Amino acid sequence: MRLTILGSGTNIHPTRAASGYLVRTDQTILLDFGPRTLTNLLKTGVNRHRITHILFSHYHADHFSDFITYFFDAMIFTKYQGGKRPPLTVIGPRGTKKFFRALFATLPGFTHAPFAVHFKEVADRAFTIGKTTVIPRTVIHTQNLHCLGYRIEYGGKALAYSGDSQYCDSLVRLCGDVDLAVLDCSFPASRPSPVHLHAGQCGQVAREAGVGRLVLSHFYPITERYNVREQAGEAFGGKIVVARDLMTIKL
Ligand SMILES: [Zn+2]
Ligand SMILES: [Zn+2]
Repeated sequence: MRLTILGSGTNIHPTRAASGYLVRTDQTILLDFGPRTLTNLLKTGVNRHRITHILFSHYHADHFSDFITYFFDAMIFTKYQGGKRPPLTVIGPRGTKKFFRALFATLPGFTHAPFAVHFKEVADRAFTIGKTTVIPRTVIHTQNLHCLGYRIEYGGKALAYSGDSQYCDSLVRLCGDVDLAVLDCSFPASRPSPVHLHAGQCGQVAREAGVGRLVLSHFYPITERYNVREQAGEAFGGKIVVARDLMTIKL
């Protein structure tokens, strides 16, 4: 299994794309699709028209907005450029179907794509895509919003992605004994937010869950001024990686 970080920043960031990750197993799966991550996806050399599954943690714009550009491009490719692509399955938390129904009804042409599109709502129940197992788990982010973290297992390895999350038991369970956990490190320990983890809590989750390697990601611009590796390392003695866009990690 390989993880490529398409975006390790947030909505507006001077040097990083927002949230997006490419996971390669027997499948090519996207986890979130925030602004500027599509440009980074092109740089990986992966054929964007072969992507069959996109998993969303939630629909804050920093995790979602490049989907619109991606889908519009897929329509032009298949409608006017003679291109073919496999069906696309979009998976996300409660509200996914309603959200895309409204979006597709509003954006010109989106309901007339010449390829199949499926929407699937998931919550806390494992499913498989080919030989890849996906385990979504509800995490706590902002009030009244269903947000998911994802655990992906393939070839005897496991990775966890927090999406956006506060510290919560379900996040620790999601990350239990994974080889690699990518956690929401929006803020430094000294500038915490009520709706995101900070660097110290990322270390705490990694320690409590028995994570192999911890990847700190989803940085707000202010966080660049702090040593998040050191802050996470106060709680977690294992390997810590500070995410960079287009970094690929093998599991
Ligand atoms: Zn969010
Ligand atoms: Zn976010």
